[in-house]
Amino acid sequence: MARQVEIELGDCLGCESCVEICPEVFAFNDNLGKAEVIKSEGGDETAIEEAIASCPAGCITFE
Ligand code: SF4
Repeated sequence: MARQVEIELGDCLGCESCVEICPEVFAFNDNLGKAEVIKSEGGDETAIEEAIASCPAGCITFE
């Protein structure tokens, strides 16, 4: 099975770093004030790993 991107929303700070780095996979949800995953499988793995490394809350998983 392909690896899936997920955000632990309770921990997301809404900083938009992941959205800037990897807009293919992450979008900002204005209603929630948090990021959301718009493509959980098949995104650019390098960009996903960069987004994970940049997340100040450490709340993105990719497994
Ligand atoms: S980088 Fe992390 S804290 Fe920032 S919006 Fe994305 S998931 Fe939320």
